[in-house]
Amino acid sequence: MGDTDQKPRGGIDRGITRRDMLVATGAATVSLGVLALNSAAAENAVQWDRETDILVVGSGVAAASAAITANQNGDDVLVIEKAPITGGTAAKSAGVLWIPDNFTLKAKGIDDRKEDCLRYMVRFSYPQHYDGADATLGISAAQYDLLAAFYDNASKTIDSLRSNGDLQIGEWRMFALDRPATDYLDQVPENKVPAGRALGPLKSDGTMGLGADLMTQLHASLQRRGVPVLTAHRATRIVMNAQGRVIGLECDAAGKTVRLRARKAVIFGSGGYAHNTEFVDAYQKQSLMGACAMPWSTGDFINIAGAAGASMGDLSTAWRSQIVLDEALQARTLAAGVFFPPGDSMLQVNRYGVRAVDENRNYNDRTTVHGYFDATQSEFPNLLMFMIYDQRSAEAFAGDYPLPATPTGGSHVLTGNTLAELGARIEARLAEVSRHTGGFSLSPDFVANLQQTITRFNGYALSGNDEEFHRGKYAYDNEWHWVFSPMRSDTKWPANKGPTVTMHPFRDEGPYYAIILAAGALDTSGGPAIDASARVLDTTGKPIAGLYGAGNCIASPSSRAYYGAGHTLGMATTFGFIAANAAHLEAVDSA
Ligand SMILES: Cc1cc2nc3c(=O)[nH]c(=O)nc-3n(C[C@H](O)[C@H](O)[C@H](O)COP(=O)(O)OP(=O)(O)OC[C@H]3O[C@@H](n4cnc5c(N)ncnc54)[C@H](O)[C@@H]3O)c2cc1C
Repeated sequence: MGDTDQKPRGGIDRGITRRDMLVATGAATVSLGVLALNSAAAENAVQWDRETDILVVGSGVAAASAAITANQNGDDVLVIEKAPITGGTAAKSAGVLWIPDNFTLKAKGIDDRKEDCLRYMVRFSYPQHYDGADATLGISAAQYDLLAAFYDNASKTIDSLRSNGDLQIGEWRMFALDRPATDYLDQVPENKVPAGRALGPLKSDGTMGLGADLMTQLHASLQRRGVPVLTAHRATRIVMNAQGRVIGLECDAAGKTVRLRARKAVIFGSGGYAHNTEFVDAYQKQSLMGACAMPWSTGDFINIAGAAGASMGDLSTAWRSQIVLDEALQARTLAAGVFFPPGDSMLQVNRYGVRAVDENRNYNDRTTVHGYFDATQSEFPNLLMFMIYDQRSAEAFAGDYPLPATPTGGSHVLTGNTLAELGARIEARLAEVSRHTGGFSLSPDFVANLQQTITRFNGYALSGNDEEFHRGKYAYDNEWHWVFSPMRSDTKWPANKGPTVTMHPFRDEGPYYAIILAAGALDTSGGPAIDASARVLDTTGKPIAGLYGAGNCIASPSSRAYYGAGHTLGMATTFGFIAANAAHLEAVDSA
């Protein structure tokens, strides 16, 4: 069950008693997610446990960016975090940030022009609307403004963090190739700067760090700046004044209701809802069987903001990744996703034994194939995909996740000496887990089709031309292969000398292997709608005064697209910066 219970807790602590008194006298109304104070007198009567100018909810990258920026602006800031530890999913991430027109590009004399970059973003996010000749490129002014705000503020955010000593950051390079990161849709003509927008945190020795290094630096900066961070404080309810302005929050701290006043604004950076199964069932019509987000990603902001009158943007989006079914069935919170399936004599097939996608496309786009619905059969034929590979890939790429260190080393790996035996093993495993998968099973012609699929694939590997899905045709597939799918140095198998490094013919003899893959996510990216100043909008499209959001808790400004490595952290950091700067300009609530 998701952690969505926002009901007021019982008990007779001071806050509850005062609130109950206000409600009883008609000075306030309380609903599932908002405490509305109906008069200035009621507002004056509230006993706040703490006061600040800007209250920031969450301690991941969106929240940390907002809190640092607010402090830089001279605002008094307080951060609350519901987990016992800080950093959110951002601290578990690889720490890469996608920042257009960044300082490393500028240093190389590469001009990442706004009009070009926006074309790339709109083309990727909204291919169904994209019109290069239109003033807003075929999308609505509101959608366009969000992306323009991201472009305008992304490099400013990083420059501000760098110049104020909050973050050491440099160009993120694809380590195996030692070159700048290639974007996730590098080949479209709209992408004029297809590599080099990814940055990453630098450790003190100058080497590239991970998300833990990113968040350690940002939190060290908050500490240096004297910004208090209260862990184990879960935001539960917005407090609004008689003018409908958000003036604070109630939160739950170990069962006690704590009331926090925000004289200027409340900024949420509280992450997605990947671990709220009720929301996943309601909003993720494409299956999402697990996620590698931290378990606190339960979408609290959806109910909290909804009760305050927020309009929901697109709730159905997520940063998608294939995941290993067996792992997801053991625990919904996963260590990692299958960001790039390793191996070259490797392909993926559906229940009919046929391929459905370029196996080496980026994780976000590749995973959408699981959601394909066959209208004739009324089924999702790709609900589960089967990653099939031979002894070459099992040994030469051993240890590249999700391949185990030895070919049969993991319980998630199924083996057969022939394709028929492998098919039987898959069928048996599917039967064991059928109550979790709607009885998903193999089609009777699975093995025969798989044989034909492999024969066709072997031809593509030899010619370098995947006639069905263009695997290996574009830079993304080939270059990211070296990052996620390095060959072992101690392997007896020859290096791939074929026309594309991503494909190698299967051996004629077994054993063969299979790993069952399902649709999952890093986290979701749907929630309340914001404007270009990160203000949360109400159902009439007007900003809710004093309420802001950034990162995975709000409807993603990029809709379904993942522009390149670091997209989610880059956007979350930038909109945290935007939110704090806009909140700085709010009038102080002085009731
Ligand atoms: C293995 C892995 C690798 C990744 N690598 C990258 C990468 O390299 N680059 C990239 O761009 N993205 C990456 N991601 C995705 C990225 O980590 C997330 O998209 C990003 O952390 C979102 O940032 P956020 O600030 O919105 O939320 P989070 O980092 O999830 O932080 C939200 C915080 O809010 C807190 N919170 C939630 N509800 C409440 C409440 N009611 N009250 C108080 N606090 C609350 C949570 O406990 C959490 O600490 C990766 C993810 C994973 C799992």
